[in-house]
Order: sequence, then C-alpha cells, then structure tokens
Amino acid sequence: MVSVKEKIGFISDMDGVIYHGNRLLDGAREFVHWLLENDKRFLFLTNSSERSPRELQEKLKRMGIDVGEEHFYTSALATASFLSKQCPGGSAFVIGEAGLLKALYDVGFSMNDVNPDYVVVGETRTYNFERIEHAIHLVLNGAKLIGTNPDLTGPTEHGIAPATRALIAPIELATSRKAYFIGKPNPLMMRQAQKRLGCATEETVIIGDRMDTDIIAGIESEIETILVLSGVTSESSMKRFPYRPDHVLKDVGEIPS
Ligand SMILES: [Mg+2]
Repeated sequence: MVSVKEKIGFISDMDGVIYHGNRLLDGAREFVHWLLENDKRFLFLTNSSERSPRELQEKLKRMGIDVGEEHFYTSALATASFLSKQCPGGSAFVIGEAGLLKALYDVGFSMNDVNPDYVVVGETRTYNFERIEHAIHLVLNGAKLIGTNPDLTGPTEHGIAPATRALIAPIELATSRKAYFIGKPNPLMMRQAQKRLGCATEETVIIGDRMDTDIIAGIESEIETILVLSGVTSESSMKRFPYRPDHVLKDVGEIPS
C-alpha cells in the first residue's frame, strides 16, 4: 500500500470533512492548499442534488477556499450521467431544485410532464401535493422512478429537513414501485468520480466522515478509504460497523503532515 500522501486522486466528502454548516473545519484550508501545491487531482463530493457545482464553489469561496467549479461533483451530476447512458436524449418530470434541472438539461434531457421516461426526485423546498399526485400518475403510466440520493434527512440551521428518500416515499408507497437511488452509498457515484479524475483505483483515495455512506462506497468500489473524526463518526461508533476504513484521522489537516 502506497502512503496516502503519494496518492494522485482525492475524492472528498464535504459536510463533516471540509465544513460544517457555514463553518470551515480545522485543517481544511491546509489540506486544500496542499492539494493545489502538489498538483493533486481532487473532487469534492456531495449527496445533495440541490446546488450546482458553481453554487458550491461560491459557498466554499465565501468560507475562504477558492477552487474551480470543476472540482465539485454532486448526486445531481451523477444522476444525469447515469440517465444519459440509460436513455440518451430522454425526458423527465422533476421534483427538485435548479442544481438537478441544470444537470439534466446539460446531458441533453428535456422536461416533460405528459409522458416522461423518468420521474426524478431530489432535495427541494417547493414540495406540494399536486406535484406528488402527478408524479404518481406518471409512474403508474410507466415512467421509471429515480432518487438522486438515498438520504432520509439533511442538516439545516434549525436541525434537520426531510431529504430525497423521505420526499420520494409517498410516490413509492402509492405506486408500490421502488425507486433507484444514485448517490452514496451507491458505488456508482464513486466510480464516476474516479473516472472524472482519470486515476487508477490504486492511485485514488476516498475521504469521508460517515461509515454507512462514504466508507462503504469506497470499500465497495475497492478504493482506499480515510475516515475523518471531524464529522458524525467517533472512534467508538466506528467500531460498531462490520467493516473498517483503511485509515482513521482526526481531520483532513493530518493528510499533508
Ligand atoms: Mg459528510
């Protein structure tokens, strides 16, 4: 096993690794500086489909880290990439935000509320009964049901908000169809990220703060994993899982040192 510092490609989760809410985490600035200084290839990953890479870039810039938008990869991009391969030039009825709509348009999908190939659901704050009812009709008429990510909840300033899996549940229940979810822990997203970096499996490392999404997705795509303890996982809660990361670090600031 080559040491982590010698890896070429770095796939890093954001929340709990780089920032928490609007607060930059210890070591994040040093880590990103080190990536840039050493010409590493890197992607910041998020399971959220709400924002576009540009909006994520601006968010990070406001916190004092400035990297190009090509360094961001979201479940919206992963979903669009998957769907464009499954059904080139297809159409979708979308319950989601601008980040998801833009990703689908960018791969040549059109929006269709009459007879779409897919009903695609992601995080949204404009959720209403009429859209859900319409989505149910479309799925019963043959549209395939896709969720951008399987998260039940996501963090907000006030606590938690329902995320994609909670939002898609009424459509699954009413139609008796099961959605297919693209984001972590589906290893598909890690594979796509690795391809984007253009790195071999042995040259790549995955960094995350969650055992049941980041670390398991790394293990299932056979990419080396680093768990950082700056997010939701503690050393004792890590031990409850039937698998383990390759490395455990306090925060990403330990990678360069
Ligand atoms: Mg995280």
